[in-house]
Amino acid sequence: MVEKELRIEKLTNGFRNGSRETVLQENISAFLHPGDLVCLLGPNGAGKSTLMRTLSGFHQPLSGKISFSGKNLESMSLKARAREVAVVFTGQINDPFLTAFEVVSMGRFPYASFYGRLKKSDLEEVENTLNLLHVAHLKDKTFYQLSDGEKQKMLLARALVQDTPFLFLDEPVAFIDSPGKIEIMEWLSHFAHEQNKGILITTHDIELALDYADRLWLMNREKPLQKGIPEDLVLNGVINQYFDRERVVFDPRKGRFGSGNKPDRQVVYVKGDQVEMQWLCRAFTRMGKEVRKATAGKSVIYYSFDTDHFVLSRKDKEDVILSTIEEVMKREMDY
Ligand code: ADP
Repeated sequence: MVEKELRIEKLTNGFRNGSRETVLQENISAFLHPGDLVCLLGPNGAGKSTLMRTLSGFHQPLSGKISFSGKNLESMSLKARAREVAVVFTGQINDPFLTAFEVVSMGRFPYASFYGRLKKSDLEEVENTLNLLHVAHLKDKTFYQLSDGEKQKMLLARALVQDTPFLFLDEPVAFIDSPGKIEIMEWLSHFAHEQNKGILITTHDIELALDYADRLWLMNREKPLQKGIPEDLVLNGVINQYFDRERVVFDPRKGRFGSGNKPDRQVVYVKGDQVEMQWLCRAFTRMGKEVRKATAGKSVIYYSFDTDHFVLSRKDKEDVILSTIEEVMKREMDY
């Protein structure tokens, strides 16, 4: 049996306008396997959407080969493609009269009869998927009436009922509030791991990708596509090379971007790692201070947390008790 995989070989991503070529990336070689959630990350204009459209067969690559489970994408019929990969692009649904149920049902059309009729079992599959994603109560609303998060879940449902080994989603968490983003990422991770789907998404949300992706593909216009597991790309500094700007750098300890080291920052010492201290450290960093761990016997002045208040310990002086982070910050500013 042929192993299920998406294989990209020596692909040149870009555009051809007459005799003029715009090359976005050259020589891309990569695999996507069932069971993996891959996040394609890169700055705006890097070529992520173009690559995704190319991998879906909607855009012609400048050169190279794409195959699904041994079959060349170029030679696959539309229906054969639709049984291999389900794609969700932003701004796809323009019909204001379609209900959410109808939108999700579209995912079953690769399996419809010659006349485009869906069987009872197709409609049951749609119902089951809507129930699974907890959106069945919204099925009779027009797609346009839904919030961005609800729309995205419906589009995910449509992709799922298509019942393919691969899913591609362009920006599935854009314009969604933070809990909604996490919900979508949890589902994607669930479908990759529990239903053995190979899922490729584009996103700008690096921190979310670090939390959920099994693998990252990093893209920008100047460098070759980098692939790897998130933790390796953080530790070997590659993630910085793709995203750092002058004033925004990736902090490998925190796993997120922040303002870079500013010269002559005031140092503040802290002790303890309770959640209250972690939030206090965030507040200090925002104030522009450099936070360091207090060393036993060495640090003469440091902050800690005790039961329900912050304590400023000072050598040979009385402790200062502060109830809130606001009080700590006020004191720091006054000094
Ligand atoms: P991303 O998804 O990473 O933001 P895109 O794939 O949307 O990037 O776009 C990549 C680049 O290709 C952009 O700079 C865009 O302006 C350019 N582009 C888009 N369409 C064409 C075209 N028809 N011809 C040449 N360049 C194009």
